[in-house]
Amino acid sequence: MERKRCPYCGRYYRQDPRALVQECCGSPDCQRARKRQNLRRWRSLNPGNSERYAPKEVAWAKAYPNYWQSYRKAHPDYVARDKLRRAESRRLAKLSANETGIRNSLVEKLHVLDGLSEPEVSANETGFLRRVIAIEDCLRSTAALTLSAR
Ligand SMILES: [Zn+2]
Repeated sequence: MERKRCPYCGRYYRQDPRALVQECCGSPDCQRARKRQNLRRWRSLNPGNSERYAPKEVAWAKAYPNYWQSYRKAHPDYVARDKLRRAESRRLAKLSANETGIRNSLVEKLHVLDGLSEPEVSANETGFLRRVIAIEDCLRSTAALTLSAR
């Protein structure tokens, strides 16, 4: 019988001879991790099924109104991790909103500059036009940098 390595705890285990497929060792923690991963994968492959389970989840939440309150009280490590996760999520959302704002304002400026560059200009306008062209170049390279950073 071949020995396999558990992907969750990293320990070696012998497969149960009755099982056709066994993906992890028999430890309850690894079984739970495997089940969570399978459920996450199934949900990502079957989008739209979350609505199907919503009534069941609402009923459960009504039956156990203080579940999360007591869970958080009993698991301070979970609370700390959750706090970090939420802060990171807020930071990323803010960052992406800022990036979108910068990009949109750059594109707006480029459109304004496109309108300014007329082919026929008088001599005293040439200096002004040169400056505009320089600004345009600067903005185009900034926009290219912003786009390539995505
Ligand atoms: Zn394991």
